[in-house]
Amino acid sequence: MKAISVLGSTGSIGTQTLQIVEEFPDAFKVVALTAGRNLNLLIDQIQRHKPEAVALADESILPELKERLQILSKGCLISQQPELLVGKEGLNEAASWSSAELVVTGIVGCAGLLPTLSAIRAGKDLALANKETLIAAGPVVLPELKNSGSRLLPADSEHSAIFQSLQGTPWAENARLSTGIPTPGLRRILLTASGGAFRDWAKEDLAKATVKDATSHPNWSMGRKITVDSATLMNKGLEVIEAHYLFGLDYDHIEIVIHPQSIIHSMVELADSSVLAQLGWPDMKLPILYCMSWPERLETSWKRLNLAEIGKLTFGTPDTQKYPCMQLAYDAGRIGGTMPAVLNAANEEAVAQFLEEKISFLGIPRVIEAICEKHKVDLKKDPSLEDILFVDLWSRKLVKEYVSMNKDNI
Ligand code: NAD
Ligand code: MG
Repeated sequence: MKAISVLGSTGSIGTQTLQIVEEFPDAFKVVALTAGRNLNLLIDQIQRHKPEAVALADESILPELKERLQILSKGCLISQQPELLVGKEGLNEAASWSSAELVVTGIVGCAGLLPTLSAIRAGKDLALANKETLIAAGPVVLPELKNSGSRLLPADSEHSAIFQSLQGTPWAENARLSTGIPTPGLRRILLTASGGAFRDWAKEDLAKATVKDATSHPNWSMGRKITVDSATLMNKGLEVIEAHYLFGLDYDHIEIVIHPQSIIHSMVELADSSVLAQLGWPDMKLPILYCMSWPERLETSWKRLNLAEIGKLTFGTPDTQKYPCMQLAYDAGRIGGTMPAVLNAANEEAVAQFLEEKISFLGIPRVIEAICEKHKVDLKKDPSLEDILFVDLWSRKLVKEYVSMNKDNI
């Protein structure tokens, strides 16, 4: 029975992880949960999974959580009270909870960085969904992984596909340890992209894109931030940087392929020109389960892939004119150092501003480009954790200033 800590348990990744735990009660148990503000769902999760510890990102809701758990306890609707933790320290404690063997990182954004580092430092294995952590802090996270012996298993569907395709090759160990050391036989990574919400829109129409349009993904059901990232294709750009850190390939050998059906989740080309792929329905439970059961595979009753039913798989080249975020991410990745952290924070803040209807959809890449440009003079090539946390805050602050100064044309 594997003991699991779920960070961001009330989100899309978190709830799907808990569904898997419920489906396989003999294989997994939950020992710690962390959540933002969704108290009703969190309480339901506590009742179902009886975690040893629960951490709240927002301390102000602790009194209400305590009160509601006491009422449930008096009514015998809850058998054991979890230890309640709060704030940054609380998240770190839940991430490094002593009985946890695997930590699923489902917090969205760079807020996941410090809890992920706590889990690594405690030697826990990681199911990494929270890609922003690696993108912002790859140069810090990779050496920590190497030192701690914790094993990083990618939960992002594309990186899981690459990881799965490399199993059974002599370089599987390299990929699993995510040492950033180039995998000798791996020549090229082909990251597939559905094309997001606007794949069938003309470039000229994107100026009219609303929040509702950008938060309706054609194939995947996900949190709001990553759904907007999929619409701008920044998600794919971020995944290029994530693949670079995970598999040690340079940016010239990581390509994006548009694949609207989202059936092939990514591919690897090997030294002899063979291409290996992993296929499945677009359902995040599959890559999450693989992280949880690795190196085993568990028998599921999930819908089986039927290629005849799908009929056609198609592929295309991404349109960098229509989606400038992809190029911004490649550029930031190639520059390296603190630049990916600045890109990531600018993107998080620009997406937040778009969701609050303060900037237009096309304003997102404009803002990010301006902030990355400004950072070039202060770039740190070999950043420390403090440098990364500093530029993360700097970048967010600058986005807010930029938006208030350019209100009328973004
Ligand atoms: P989500 O918005 O649905 O859930 C986010 C979770 O993080 C919630 O539990 C929320 O309470 C918590 N949270 C938010 N802000 C926080 C903060 N400041 N401190 C602590 N906790 C906080 O997001 P999601 O779609 O589940 O995505 C989670 C991560 O997984 C992201 O990094 C995303 O890129 C990645 N990912 C998601 C999917 C998917 O299908 N949803 C696929 C691949 C990768
Ligand atoms: Mg993905």
